[in-house]
Amino acid sequence: MRTWIKTPLAILAEGAENGLVVADGRIAELVARGASPEASVDAVWDASAHVVLPGLVNTHHHMFQTLTRAHPAAINKELFPWLQALLPIWAHNVKPDNFRLASRLALTELLMSGATCVSDHQYLYPPGLDAAMDIQAEEAASLGMRMTLTRGSLNLAEDEGGMADRGAVQDVDAILADCERVLGRYHDRADGAMTRVAMAPCAPFNVSKRLMVETAAMAEKYDCRLHTHLAETLDEETFCLEKFACRPVDYLEEVGWMNDRVWLAHGVHFNDDEIRRLGKARVGVCHCPTSNMVLASGHCRTRELEAAGSPVGLGVDGSASNDNSNLMESVRHALMINRLRYGAAAITHFDALRWATQGSARCLGRDDIGAIAVGKQADLALYTLDELRFSGAGEPIAALVLCGAHRADRVMIKGEWRVLDGMPVGVDVARLRSEHGAAAKRFLEAF
Ligand SMILES: [Zn+2]
Repeated sequence: MRTWIKTPLAILAEGAENGLVVADGRIAELVARGASPEASVDAVWDASAHVVLPGLVNTHHHMFQTLTRAHPAAINKELFPWLQALLPIWAHNVKPDNFRLASRLALTELLMSGATCVSDHQYLYPPGLDAAMDIQAEEAASLGMRMTLTRGSLNLAEDEGGMADRGAVQDVDAILADCERVLGRYHDRADGAMTRVAMAPCAPFNVSKRLMVETAAMAEKYDCRLHTHLAETLDEETFCLEKFACRPVDYLEEVGWMNDRVWLAHGVHFNDDEIRRLGKARVGVCHCPTSNMVLASGHCRTRELEAAGSPVGLGVDGSASNDNSNLMESVRHALMINRLRYGAAAITHFDALRWATQGSARCLGRDDIGAIAVGKQADLALYTLDELRFSGAGEPIAALVLCGAHRADRVMIKGEWRVLDGMPVGVDVARLRSEHGAAAKRFLEAF
């Protein structure tokens, strides 16, 4: 079955002005201006009202946090007091049933914004939530989304020098055993994989050194990615200096994490020398503009990191620090916060979209997604410009970012339509909103 997605209004690809041909879940052909497909096609889909982008890729999130959006215990706080307010509430109230709804809701929101591949830094394992990765694998599969299941971990409670509630931490051996189980069950390294696994201690300051070292060794053994939070706030830098007598990047080096398997969330507070070292090691950085602004954490030095050799991707970050899961909104925020730092001419909509597509794909270690090119997976996000916010807009791709696109009209993953007319296929959105809203009430009552 060869389908020609014909003559888009605009497309983020070179030599595809007349569209592209999808076959067997991949992009089989790009059709240049004035041309027709070289081989015959079975179907033609008219894209003349659509702006076509590569599917967006989200590289950092905490889906369970959709249960504590705009929570009164945490609003108007910076990272550490924000975490201290929320960790006990999460530890005692996140259960398999509400975790499933939270994952379904966040995945659906991401999909509707144009995301086709996602990762979720799931570090919270209170008693009873052992099947968190299995739940997320099922939810992503039912939506037809690609996912890097990111098996996070927390093993230092407050009385052990960390900051987590005792109910939220696990023993190192239990963590490592579950990492191996999840890797064995879900890690597909093949081209076009729908599910991969990464390992992700929450942050160097709330796990033990042994856990950092052993997960790095396991990543080598299983050929998977490694992820953690790093250099998000100045509080963290101070904590690291007091506890380890070194800066966060020095500690990362000490535990064997300075290599191209690693992508870091935030990466705000790096000095010039650290950026040079991270770039040389090809460590990726997930820029989280919305969260960094909400928590007033600072700016990620995206241009310097890319120039040094680090892939830079984009993440919505958790829904308690964003407080949504809309990746197109984060593209717009990335444009704006980076312009504040680098100037209006230095950062374009193409930069922000590159971070959300190619850059994010590189952070996840994938070269089969993130771009519209022959041989890549047929993962596409298509937007119309028919809302009032776009009326009168000139350049269609710029309009998506500048006018604030927030909802894809169609989304294709591996050649299958997963969003049609702005709605996710097979999801009762009203019911999901109602069930998730009811589950989230427990988190307000816990306050
Ligand atoms: Zn985070």
